[in-house]
Amino acid sequence: MTTTELSQQGREFFAGQFGQPPDGLWSAPGRVNLIGEHTDYNNGFVFPIAIEKRTVAAAGLRSDRRLRVASSSFPGMVEVSLDELDPDALQGWAAYPLGVAWAMAQAAGEKGIPGAQLAGVDLTLTSDVPAGAGLSSSAAVECAAALALNELWGLGLGREELARIGQLAENRVVGAPTGIMDQSASLLGEPDHGILLDCQSLRAESVPLGFAAAGLGLLVIDTRTSHSHADGGYASRRRSCEEGAKAMGVPSLRALGPGDLPRAAGVLDDETFRRVRHIVTENQRVLDTVAALQAEGPSAVGPFLNESHVSMRDDFEISTPELDLAVSAAQSLGALGARMTGGGFGGAAIALVRNGDAAGITEGLIREFARAGFTAPSIFPVSASAGARREE
Ligand code: ADP
Ligand code: MG
Repeated sequence: MTTTELSQQGREFFAGQFGQPPDGLWSAPGRVNLIGEHTDYNNGFVFPIAIEKRTVAAAGLRSDRRLRVASSSFPGMVEVSLDELDPDALQGWAAYPLGVAWAMAQAAGEKGIPGAQLAGVDLTLTSDVPAGAGLSSSAAVECAAALALNELWGLGLGREELARIGQLAENRVVGAPTGIMDQSASLLGEPDHGILLDCQSLRAESVPLGFAAAGLGLLVIDTRTSHSHADGGYASRRRSCEEGAKAMGVPSLRALGPGDLPRAAGVLDDETFRRVRHIVTENQRVLDTVAALQAEGPSAVGPFLNESHVSMRDDFEISTPELDLAVSAAQSLGALGARMTGGGFGGAAIALVRNGDAAGITEGLIREFARAGFTAPSIFPVSASAGARREE
C-alpha cells in the first residue's frame, strides 16, 4: 500500500470513529534489522533500515482531558482521562499509543510543562506493518503516536528523545524489556540507507546501502509463526547477558571484545558463555558489515548475515525450525546471505538476493516450506525507506 493510500484510509477511519476530520496525519515505518541482534540492550551496535510499510496516526486535539484511541487493526475504542493515565493499568494494543501518551506527559513534566496543561487527544492507527512478524509494528505505532503528540502538544522534543519515549512506553507500560533499536530505526531511517546505531552513545550514522544500484534486493520471509517479546525467551536472554556482564566484571557486554572470549570461557558456565559469545561476535559483525559495505559494496555483506544466523541459532538459541529452513533454503536457492531478524522465537528472516533471482527464490522457499509441512511463509521485498514524518 502506498503512504498516500494509507493516509487516505487513516483520514476516513478517524472521521468514522470520531465524526470529524483529524488535525493532522503522522506516519512511522516498521523496520528490518540488517544485522546486530539483541545487541541493543547490551549497549552495542545495530544496523537496521526503516521499511516502506508504515503506520499512520491520525490525531486531533480535544477541548477536554480525554484520550481516545482506536485502531483499524484491532476492535474497540479505548478511552481514558489524562488524569487517570496509569502505566500499570494499560492493557492490550491500546497500551502502545496510551503508553506513549503517558511517557510524553512525563517528558513534558521534565521540560517544565505541567501535565495539567495538556489537552485530550483523539487518535487512530491504520497500518500495513504486519504485527508480530519481527518488523516492529510496535515501534511504528509508538513513533507515529509520539510524533503526533509531540506536535499537537507543542513539546518540541527531538528525535532521540522521542525514541527514548517509545522505548519507555514499551518497557514500562507494555512490559517488554526491549532496547532502543526499533524506535531509532523508525525515527531516523532514510531511503537507501542503513542506520548504524551505537546504543551506548546513541550516536547514529546513516550509511548508504547501494543495494538497488548493485541489482540487489532484500526479501523478508515472514514465517507467520508467532513470538512474544513480553514473555519468556527475550527476558531470559536479557537476564543471561546481565549475568554474563556481572560475572565478567563489566558494566555491559559492550565492554568486551573477541579477545576477552577465552577468559569468558573460563569464568562463565557453558550456556552463559554462548550467550555472551553471540553478543560479542555480533557487535563485531555489525562493524565488519559496515566496513565491508563501504570498502567492497553491498554484495560483501552476505557472509556476515550467514554467520549472524549461525550465532543466533547455536549460541543465543533464539531461532526456530521455520526460521532455520527459511535461511538454509534461501542460501541454497542462491541468496548472497540470509539470517533470522528481530527478537527471535518466530517472526521473519531476511535474504539478500540478486533482483533477477528473487522470483525463483520465493517460489523455492514456498516449495520447501510445503515439503516440511510448515505454514506457507509470506515473502515480500523491502527497501530502506524514509523515517517517521508528518504526512498532512
Ligand atoms: P512486532 O513489533 O515485532 O510487530 P510486538 O509484539 O512487539 O511485535 O508488537 C505487536 C503489538 O503491537 C500488537 O499485538 C499490538 O498490540 C500492537 N500493534 C501493532 N500494530 C498495531 C496497530 N496498527 N494498531 C494497534 N496496535 C498495534
Ligand atoms: Mg515490537
